[in-house]
Amino acid sequence: GELVRAVGLTKLYKTRNGDTVEALSPTSIEIRDGEFLSLIGPSGCGKSTFLKILAGLEQPSGGSLEWRDGPPSTGADVGYVFQEPVLLPWLSILDNVRFPLDVFGVSKAEGNERAAAMLALVGLGDFGKALPKELSGGMRQRAAIARALVYRPRIVLMDEPFGALDLLTRDRMNDELLRIRAETGSTIVFVTHSIEEAAYLSDRVAVMSPRPGRISALHELDLGPE
Ligand code: ADP
Ligand code: ADP
Repeated sequence: GELVRAVGLTKLYKTRNGDTVEALSPTSIEIRDGEFLSLIGPSGCGKSTFLKILAGLEQPSGGSLEWRDGPPSTGADVGYVFQEPVLLPWLSILDNVRFPLDVFGVSKAEGNERAAAMLALVGLGDFGKALPKELSGGMRQRAAIARALVYRPRIVLMDEPFGALDLLTRDRMNDELLRIRAETGSTIVFVTHSIEEAAYLSDRVAVMSPRPGRISALHELDLGPE
């Protein structure tokens, strides 16, 4: 079924000199329960803005988001993975992954158990005590993915999560992500520049296409079985 539907979602930003920038022109799409949806399109077409609105990190200027089960609470119901792994440098990998559980009141004992299980799932079972700086870029991003998934959010939003990695590591991470997703069944919205990556990973690909200096509608290409 449908998890959330965006209807004519727009975002305008005011610049310092009083101009208005249309970061997202009217965008409508439904996101289905359990699907892996990729969003492709050139830089500046509004992909990140769309994800931030989905996450509740930005308010839309117009249009609406209709959540089947009511609006999510940021952090608990929405997992977010950024291009660069955002980990707290002074916390161990395990403590980083447990962080959302701490914030939302899960006991430390249960949190440790769930964080350790999630670390094992992303192949970092032996690295819970390490500090972020002791891991490679790919390993740090795996930890960030574990943290995004640990609360079992309704939806996981990934904004070019492998964009900073070399191509070989990126290919490996794509396979890891498919394996993790098969284990967790998470609904994923994945932003990428790469149509190859989108086609490899996704059930569906949505293309945000630019017009000169602007964004047009969202087109959908149905690549997978319903
Ligand atoms: P994408 O993720 O597709 O590269 P973004 O959503 O980051 O695109 O940005 C869409 C457009 O909105 C870009 O032109 C960008 O410069 C502009 N934009 C994004 N965030 C802001 C902001 N906070 N203030 C002003 N303009 C912004
Ligand atoms: P990644 O693809 O995750 O960035 P790299 O290939 O850069 O990993 O690995 C950096 C170092 O960390 C290598 O020495 C690699 O063998 C080691 N490493 C990566 N993942 C693991 C793991 N799950 N267990 C043990 N060592 C690992």
